[in-house]
Amino acid sequence: MIQPIGFKNKPNILGSVDKCECPKCLNISKWNLLELEKYFTLFFIPIIPIGSNYRIMCEICNHQEILSKKHFINYKKKLDIEWLFSENEITAQERNLKINEINIIIEKAKINKLNTSPEERKECKELASKKTDEELLTIYFKERYKYIPAMITAVKSEIEKRNLTNEKK
Ligand SMILES: [Zn+2]
Repeated sequence: MIQPIGFKNKPNILGSVDKCECPKCLNISKWNLLELEKYFTLFFIPIIPIGSNYRIMCEICNHQEILSKKHFINYKKKLDIEWLFSENEITAQERNLKINEINIIIEKAKINKLNTSPEERKECKELASKKTDEELLTIYFKERYKYIPAMITAVKSEIEKRNLTNEKK
């Protein structure tokens, strides 16, 4: 029997906004800004929009990282400025000035992302302490891209605490 109601994500790629190293494929490439609009569906037809998720995606391997709305808006501003520039609404000098301003905000936000709340840090510490040696090493050396920075920090200190090395025994 067909389930009449459900949810659907409609992805919109808004444009390339950043150039940085991908934690998954390790290429330095362009990253696309992505908005995932979530819809409530009735018989597979999107009926009501129920909010959006924001991502940034590596152009080469399609690896995605979640963005907060605030962070998304900063990236979106960059696209708007590029658009204004391409339409000759602003000069190259104005464009550079505005892009630089936003880049500073984005860099600051990236640093703030590393400074997570004490509760979050505690939670990650607990999670890390329950992992086996093998799991800790896999996370730290192979699956880093799957975790938030606070978890990587917790895993790193747990590895140090247990005196683990990546060398095969
Ligand atoms: Zn990649």
